[in-house]
Amino acid sequence: MITAYHDPGFAAPIGAHVMPMRKFQLVADGLAGRDWVRVERPPPATPADLGRVHSAAYVEAVRSGEPRALAESQKFPWSPALWPSVLLTNGGAIAAAARALDDGLAAALASGFHHSHADHGEGFCTFNGLVVAAESLRAAGRVRTVAVLDVDLHYGNGTASLCATRPWLFNCSIYGNDYWQNKPYRDVENVQHTDGPNHVSFALPNGSGREALLAALERGTAAILAYGRPDLVLYQAGADPYREDPYSPLDLDLDDLRERDRLVFAWARQARLPIAWVLAGGYTPDVSKVVDVHIGTFDAAKAVYGLEP
Ligand SMILES: [Zn+2]
Repeated sequence: MITAYHDPGFAAPIGAHVMPMRKFQLVADGLAGRDWVRVERPPPATPADLGRVHSAAYVEAVRSGEPRALAESQKFPWSPALWPSVLLTNGGAIAAAARALDDGLAAALASGFHHSHADHGEGFCTFNGLVVAAESLRAAGRVRTVAVLDVDLHYGNGTASLCATRPWLFNCSIYGNDYWQNKPYRDVENVQHTDGPNHVSFALPNGSGREALLAALERGTAAILAYGRPDLVLYQAGADPYREDPYSPLDLDLDDLRERDRLVFAWARQARLPIAWVLAGGYTPDVSKVVDVHIGTFDAAKAVYGLEP
């Protein structure tokens, strides 16, 4: 059995937007036939949880809507409904991370928000749920070290920036954000990245397929263990590397992404690393394909862990 955290309130009512908020609910619905998945509601994150990662001014801006430019720095129109929804999505990440320590494996049907920085949001990411979850478990004394394995299409620039003051945190970002030939779709300012001792990145050139992705994963997972065995792995299983995604310059189909997930889970299981995953990006206009990628991650988990009802 695996627990997946979801709440209908994850979807902030932001109107028509490239970010398909309803995908969270669609993934929850799509899991209904799988009796080895239990969907539970998480408790919301608290302002104290956010305060371990984000500046007081930024947290207050998202809560109150003022100053508006800061409250909308993630590029969502602010409304009073944003605050409760981001508390729930971050609560989902915390709950999944905690559950993974008990069960070895858990999921949150929310994004990881890897573009979010300490004092502002970026690229549809308000608060960095990955680091919020890691800090929450650290504060509870449940982990000392955490690694993020980020396989969203985009570089996890917010998480990398938060690593600067957190030597106990390691970020590995495997991304296809080479937008030199793809400028119309560029949404974050990150074409080249500077790695650091606890944040590394592997860029997949435009047109990369399964072989390049799996080779990068081998290097990335090895880099995580080389830094030191983490007490917990947080996995960003993005759906936006998918070949039909309007942002993706990569050549990865559903099967390739399922193979990605299988490799990640097989690595975590073999190394006995608790792992919690989040959904991350996915913008294919036919949202059912985004949902298929995310459901595929669950099926890959079942294939590796042999989950029973
Ligand atoms: Zn993305």
